[in-house]
Amino acid sequence: MISQNEDFDHAPWDVGGGSDDDKLHEECGIFGVLGVRDAAATAALGLHALQHRGQEAVGITSFDGQEFYSRKGIGHVAANFSNISAIAELPGTMAAGHVRYSTTGGAGLRNVQPLFADLASGGFAIAHNGNISNAMFLKRDLVRKGAIFQSTSDTEVIIHLVATSRYPTLLDRFVDALRLVEGAYSLICMTPLGMIACRDPLGIRPLVMGKMGDAIVFASETVALDVVGADFVREIEPGELVQVDLDGNLSSHHPFGKTDARPCIFEHVYFSRPDSLMGGRSVYQVRKEIGAQLAIESPADADLVIPVPDSGVPAALGYAQASGIPFELGIIRSHYVGRTFIQPSDGARNADVKRKHNANRALVAGKRIVLIDDSIVRGTTSMKIVQMMRDAGASEVHFRVASPPTEHSCFYGVDTPERSKLLAARMDVKAMAEFIHADSLAFVSIDGLYRAVGEAQRNSARPQYCDACFSGEYPTRLTDLADRENPDQLSFPVDKVA
Ligand code: SF4
Repeated sequence: MISQNEDFDHAPWDVGGGSDDDKLHEECGIFGVLGVRDAAATAALGLHALQHRGQEAVGITSFDGQEFYSRKGIGHVAANFSNISAIAELPGTMAAGHVRYSTTGGAGLRNVQPLFADLASGGFAIAHNGNISNAMFLKRDLVRKGAIFQSTSDTEVIIHLVATSRYPTLLDRFVDALRLVEGAYSLICMTPLGMIACRDPLGIRPLVMGKMGDAIVFASETVALDVVGADFVREIEPGELVQVDLDGNLSSHHPFGKTDARPCIFEHVYFSRPDSLMGGRSVYQVRKEIGAQLAIESPADADLVIPVPDSGVPAALGYAQASGIPFELGIIRSHYVGRTFIQPSDGARNADVKRKHNANRALVAGKRIVLIDDSIVRGTTSMKIVQMMRDAGASEVHFRVASPPTEHSCFYGVDTPERSKLLAARMDVKAMAEFIHADSLAFVSIDGLYRAVGEAQRNSARPQYCDACFSGEYPTRLTDLADRENPDQLSFPVDKVA
């Protein structure tokens, strides 16, 4: 009997397990390079540029033409891969790596990617950004057939599906496996024959390709190409598999046919680094444009525009330029905040927020301010920042948000609190303004957001992006969630599994 409660460490329903800081978190960044000396050193540098996508753990796997080598660690890239001996453990001209934001701390190193397995065809390493929304459904069947899972990562399902596919070539087995998988995946895989990079048919999570001399580079974001000195070539297309052999010969495959893409629109709002290009657009410019749309849609009579740093800065610049209200740094952010800190139990009001952000009192006192942030999740941080501004003497605080209300959880690889904890799922805008004690509160409209990313408006019949955390319109089936919500009507009843 297979336990119905057997869980993945970031299963679709296990949202928000580890996030206590009132921000959404991207859960992973991936990087791969083939055809360069000391590929692991390049991978470490690339992963360092993707550190914002996951800070809890990091892993790199390399291949020297004979053997695979792997090193994993908890914490930042610099803490695990900055010394020569760490890189010396990973010889070879091909390497892939992964940074991870963990929603649970208990699983330790066994869930740190790249995951590796010895298949009949040889070694197989896989690094995954995204989330498989039918992983539990697939795992239940695989376990029934005798599969023994080594981790609680949804990614391991892909390894078992590749291992058990009956197709003759590894590429065919890989495609066969992916046909069964639903949800979001950008993948970088290594085999003894080379590297495979691919995106799910909707291209929900990003993946780009670059060149560095004769070497091929794949990364979650273009910033990693910049940092390692690679030239951006193009994005991996939704549903595309790019195969590179050990001599650097490239082939492109579209086994799922062409579908309209639905990339994550929140990458533009918050997750990606502002110095990346996403969908051919500068993330920084898009964020400024969101701020400009916000100023047009929701003006405020105020003296200063102040960003909640760092993520609110580009949108605040856009708001200031469009409104003519001066931009000022009214909140200063500490860059030395560790994750563990003993909270004073006495009356040190808002100490957790103040550790990270502090009011620039001399600037704010007596002023009517517009605060700009990228999103409101639970609302607790927003409330504390508004109070911080009032304590510093602000006479009015108008809160403007560079995304529509986040009303729904993400099931595609972003750590979101469960829906009942999302402020926008519990309250309308007026009640939210009262909750955070703002004089006024406004969010950019969904069409304003689409205009900022270059669309005339959102196509309601077929949205151009995944915007499910705002709209609730998920672009894929959510089989595991449906099974969990209706355990009596499992979409794949266990007693009927072959
Ligand atoms: S639900 Fe939101 S965060 Fe998740 S992929 Fe879609 S737009 Fe991005």
